[in-house]
Amino acid sequence: MSDYDVVIVGGGIAGASLGAEIAHARRTLIVEAEEHCGYHATGRSAAFWLESYGGPTVALLTSASRNFLDRPAADFADDGFLHMRGDLHISREGWAELPEGIDSRRVSRAELEEMLPGIRPEWQHAVLEPGCADIDVARLHAAYLRRFKQSGGALATGSRLAGAEFRAGRWGIQLEDGLQLGASVVVDAAGAWADSVAEACGARPLGIAPKRRTMVQLRIGRSGLRDLPLVDDAAGTFYFKGEGDSSAWLSPHDEIDTDPCDAAPEEIDIAIAIDRFERVVDWSIERVERSWAGLRSFAPDRLPVYGFDPDAPQFFWCAGQGGFGIQSAPAAARLAASLLLQETPDPMVAHIDPALFAPARFR
Ligand SMILES: Cc1cc2nc3c(=O)[nH]c(=O)nc-3n(C[C@H](O)[C@H](O)[C@H](O)COP(=O)(O)OP(=O)(O)OC[C@H]3O[C@@H](n4cnc5c(N)ncnc54)[C@H](O)[C@@H]3O)c2cc1C
Repeated sequence: MSDYDVVIVGGGIAGASLGAEIAHARRTLIVEAEEHCGYHATGRSAAFWLESYGGPTVALLTSASRNFLDRPAADFADDGFLHMRGDLHISREGWAELPEGIDSRRVSRAELEEMLPGIRPEWQHAVLEPGCADIDVARLHAAYLRRFKQSGGALATGSRLAGAEFRAGRWGIQLEDGLQLGASVVVDAAGAWADSVAEACGARPLGIAPKRRTMVQLRIGRSGLRDLPLVDDAAGTFYFKGEGDSSAWLSPHDEIDTDPCDAAPEEIDIAIAIDRFERVVDWSIERVERSWAGLRSFAPDRLPVYGFDPDAPQFFWCAGQGGFGIQSAPAAARLAASLLLQETPDPMVAHIDPALFAPARFR
């Protein structure tokens, strides 16, 4: 039986980033059920950094992650992970309201027409959030996995945790393929499966609920789309952004309760997305190039959960990252690492109260 200090369940952005922050200090193994670590939510995101997204408490983590994403240390990555885009929060009724302290300004209809050619006349109100950027998610995730391995971490893909028992001060872990592991701490970074993994370890679930979100890539009959701002509806019924010169990514902002699974888009959600899109701009849609869906998993209060379970010994939650798990990953990983290693928080997150994200808030 192999023995570790920490076994992290899940190799998505949550498990990879936390692993990268602790592997220098603890003998750490990431077990990932799939053959590729980015197979689920991490590989299916819309890939943007938007400070206002998720509300003011999530914004603490998103904002604290900005410098790391923009100018990572030279030994972590050659170049930054952000590409500036800006976001237009548009509305037919009134101005979008953003959490306090987020850089934004109102945009006149004339300016809106310049920024978003073809916008239909009923969209009279727009608030620009200039800091919005695209994130190179694949490169960020790969950089975290590389740092994890360089720091001595071990990764086992195609390895699904089946169950674990805490006995005489240590975890005995069974993998689905029959292998057994020992560990002092189990980290639950299993995304949509976070509650199932908790139950398999004898911990009480927190109510982490997976919700399906659909994305559609459209071929559009016009060019010059690539660098247009991200556009979202202040009422939360769609967002879209130019992807290539003549293609756009579109989401109907759906949030459909589902069991954890390999999510796939439904025709009806694609149709809803297109209908909403056509009510915003007069761009002609040539075809749907591809579509996909992923699961965004939320705790009951829609804030992420970082910290030791108050009841289950040596069981650490790193879950509930909802729709902001990429943009908040650098700060979230530092915060979680300080809790797990019981060290003074890194300056990146020293101003953030970890109690905001503690699992004890649900007990
Ligand atoms: C359509 C969509 C758009 C999004 N857009 C954005 C965005 O623009 N910006 C942003 O910041 N975030 C966005 N998100 C959210 C972001 O993708 C997630 O918050 C983030 O990827 C969650 O990472 P994770 O590591 O927790 O989950 P995952 O990437 O799902 O990783 C969890 C892993 O755990 C593994 N696992 C589960 N059970 C077991 C087990 N028993 N044993 C071993 N392994 C197991 C799974 O195989 C999986 O790989 C979006 C999400 C979706 C779906």
